[in-house]
Amino acid sequence: MLGSPPLFARRLLAWYRRHRRELPWRAEPVDPYHVLVSEAMLQQTQVATVVPYFERFVTQLPTLRALADADSQQVLRLWQGLGYYSRARNLQRAAQRIVAEFGGEIPCERDDLLSLPGVGRYTAGAIASIAFGRRTPILDGNVARVLCRLHCIEDDPRSKLVRERLWTLAEQILPTKHLGDFNSALMELGATVCTPRSPKCDVCPVRLHCRALARGLQESIPPPKKSRPTPIVHRRTFCIRLGRRYLIEQRPPTGRWAGMWQFITREGDMVNDLKISQPRKIGQIRHTLTHRRYVFDVFLCQALTARLNGKWTTLEKLTDYPLPLPHLKIAQMLQEEI
Ligand code: SF4
Repeated sequence: MLGSPPLFARRLLAWYRRHRRELPWRAEPVDPYHVLVSEAMLQQTQVATVVPYFERFVTQLPTLRALADADSQQVLRLWQGLGYYSRARNLQRAAQRIVAEFGGEIPCERDDLLSLPGVGRYTAGAIASIAFGRRTPILDGNVARVLCRLHCIEDDPRSKLVRERLWTLAEQILPTKHLGDFNSALMELGATVCTPRSPKCDVCPVRLHCRALARGLQESIPPPKKSRPTPIVHRRTFCIRLGRRYLIEQRPPTGRWAGMWQFITREGDMVNDLKISQPRKIGQIRHTLTHRRYVFDVFLCQALTARLNGKWTTLEKLTDYPLPLPHLKIAQMLQEEI
């Protein structure tokens, strides 16, 4: 244990109240819908990136019911550029399920939250504690790092065994009051003080409880991730033009960028189903995701007929459609080209 748990919690909470970042979803009184949306957006994404997306999202879809009833293309458009679009689809499905099964009120119990699409152990714990003050632990990357250092756990926190141990520790250190602030404080500490590199131990509110610091191991815990080579995926994108309009196609309803729109994109060579002029290469777009790197060779060509599968749209009207980030960049490339 970390010395006296109540003292640990008091120190952490006092620090959080003085140093926490003011974020739109932390406004008092806490709105559970804001917590739900922010937690979906914050998965795999930095706070600074999320803030403008969050504000736009809750301005256009201010309530859970508005989200449940929204056109799915509008939800994707509001998410456009944030990546990991399955989060947006799951968030809307979760809202629809809450309306259908929980009378439109976000459930406060962890098990009910866990039954919602896209809500895992971490998100359920975060919503239950932050929005409803329930005594539920949370464990994300920041909290895992903080706990490993506090307890001087030198093994890899990504391993299943260590993760389970960390969940137990995250539960054991919970205080009896101010659960939401306490969990937020742990995450905030990891994000701003107990950072992956060069933790700021001299200003850390819980340094007296930290075993890694006592042993001088704070820099080497947790061990660095073993990097695996990420495969490169090549695609050819054809910006097919007819007057001022371009042809776009909708992606399949499942898989990466599901349901979004794109310029005509093929895996290999140009297929013969398109009646177009000789394509001219105008550039290349690189796009890196967690597990793969995309390289899009971008071509411009003229349509020889309007009867091609897809939709014709001008660059100005393209904003009506949710586009994956590489295709937004391709649209910018076209703006510069004309
Ligand atoms: Fe992290 Fe340093 Fe604080 Fe320990 S003392 S929890 S390593 S910032």
